[in-house]
Parts: sequence; structure tokens; C-alpha cells
Amino acid sequence: RAKEQGKARYAVYNAAMYTEAQTIWELENNLRLALERQEFLLHYQPIFSLTTQTLMGFEALIRWQHPQQGLISPVDFIPIAEETGLIVPIGEWVLQESCRQFALWQQQYPHISDLKISVNLSGRQLQTGNLIDLLDKILLQTGLSGNSLKLEITETLLMKNLESASLLLSKLKERAIQVSIDDFGTGYSSLSYLCHLPVNTLKIDRSFVTHVNEIKENLQIVKAIIGLARQLEINVVAEGIETQQHLDRLQELECEYGQGYLFSKPLEEKAVESLLEQSLN
Ligand code: C2E
Ligand code: MG
Ligand code: MG
Ligand code: MG
Repeated sequence: RAKEQGKARYAVYNAAMYTEAQTIWELENNLRLALERQEFLLHYQPIFSLTTQTLMGFEALIRWQHPQQGLISPVDFIPIAEETGLIVPIGEWVLQESCRQFALWQQQYPHISDLKISVNLSGRQLQTGNLIDLLDKILLQTGLSGNSLKLEITETLLMKNLESASLLLSKLKERAIQVSIDDFGTGYSSLSYLCHLPVNTLKIDRSFVTHVNEIKENLQIVKAIIGLARQLEINVVAEGIETQQHLDRLQELECEYGQGYLFSKPLEEKAVESLLEQSLN
């Protein structure tokens, strides 16, 4: 009897594994097809100065327009793309498309020539070894200048690949391409290294901002990050500002920049264009 039960459990376990593997395999295949069929698109979330309330730039955020399932969030496919390596061609498309689009906007709306487009990078892209060549090619092709581009790299990634990251960052600096450390505070940073790396911006993770007024530890962390950025003489951006209370607190703490639903959700191309038209004068 026990043997039978064991056997049954074994069969169930196998079936579950099979389903999961098949789903991942399917998703991987679909991602590959999505790239060919050009089903990815970018939304752009505005980043504002919290002191002057002016627009400073946008963060490009990928979405997948699935023919049956509709718009799919990056949290549902970026992890698989990273696991399978598909993030490399997908990430290349993101860089290409965001630089192309932003260069075009800068031509159409000359008042945004000082604004920057921020693009998220994944670890696999750092490891390809030809990121700099790719960036040079894209900047040349699109006509975007290096100082209009900002790359977002997570803290964990940066610290995992310190030596190669430090070389990469200095090459980016030569091109005036800026670097933000994304999701700052969620990983483990060696502060002494941080002082030596040519990093321009710390982005405070949304998880600390959400309860900055309710959880004392979160307030302490946000304060500490703002203080650290000030000491290092670099910029600081708070993610996930959703309420006036969040904004009030961050302004009181003298956080320079912010992004979040209070100002704007990530916008489609057309919505960015009407925002840029409105801010023309
Ligand atoms: P992230 O880089 O930290 O981007 C910020 C995320 O927070 C975005 O989610 C944005 O829509 C969301 N967000 C901004 N303000 C608020 C707010 O006030 N409230 C709430 N609840 N959320 C807010 P999204 O677009 O779903 O992207 C999630 C993550 O997926 C990104 O986190 C990034 O890690 C990754 N991702 C997105 N696009 C790309 C890409 O092109 N390449 C790579 N490698 N990763 C990407
Ligand atoms: Mg980001
Ligand atoms: Mg972030
Ligand atoms: Mg985040």
C-alpha cells in the first residue's frame, strides 16, 4: 500500500515537473517568436525634479503585446528571458528602440535636448563583452549623443561583477553615458567600492518609499541613501512615489528627483508626445 502511494506521489510529482518545464519551454519559444514578430514595445515613465517639478527624463520600460493575452508585464517574462539568454537580443532591441525614439523626440521637441533616456540593463548584457561596441554602433546609427543616455544597473549586478563593471563604467564615462544604480538598498553594496565607481545616480527602491511614512526602518533607509548620495556628490531618484504624503516626506528629506504614479504611470509613445507638446512653453 505504501508502495502504491509512493508510486502515485511520484507520478504526480513528475506530471507537475513536466507541466512546469513545458510552460517554460513554451514561454521561451514564444519570446523568440515575439522578437521576430516585433511584439515588444516600450512605455516611458517620466522622471521629475522634486524641487522645480520639471521633467528631467524618462525611463524606458518594456512590455509584450501578446496577440491573445494582451499586454504582458516585464515581471512575467524578463526572468525567463534572463534565464534563457534571450535577454541579450531583447535587451539589444530595447537599447536600439529607446535611442532611436529619444533621438527623434529630441529633433521634434528641441526643448528636451537636455533630458535623458534611462534604459535598464540585465546581467547577461554586461557579460556579453561587446556592450560598448553595441552602444557605439547604436549611438552612431541613431544620432543620439552619449550624454542623453543613462543606463540602469542593479546594485547586486554591479557588486557581483565588480572588476568588469569598473572597467565598463569607465568606458561609459568616456562616452558621457551616465549610470544609475537601480533598486538601491535591496542588495548589498560595498560602500568603499561605491566611492570609487563612476556612478551618477542612486535610485531608491520603491519598497522603501511605499511605507516611508509608516515604517520607521524604511524612513531611516531612505534618509541614509539620500545622505550617502549627498556625500558622494551624486544624484538620487526615489521610485514609486504614489501619494502626496510620499512626496511631502521626500521633499522634506531633500530628495532631488522622483518618479511614480503620483506624477505619471509609464506612458505610451502617443501620450509622451502630448506631454512634450504641453510642456513646449
Ligand atoms: P525597475 O527598473 O525598478 O522599474 C520601475 C518599475 O516600477 C516599473 O515597473 C514601473 O512601472 C514601476 N513603478 C513606477 N512608479 C510606480 C509607482 O508609483 N507605483 C508602483 N506600484 N509601481 C511603480 P515595470 O514596468 O513593471 O517593470 C518592472 C521591472 O522589470 C523593472 O523594474 C525592471 O527591473 C524590469 N524591466 C523593465 N523593462 C526592462 C528592460 O527593458 N530590460 C530589462 N533588463 N529589465 C526591464
Ligand atoms: Mg529601472
Ligand atoms: Mg528601479
Ligand atoms: Mg525597483
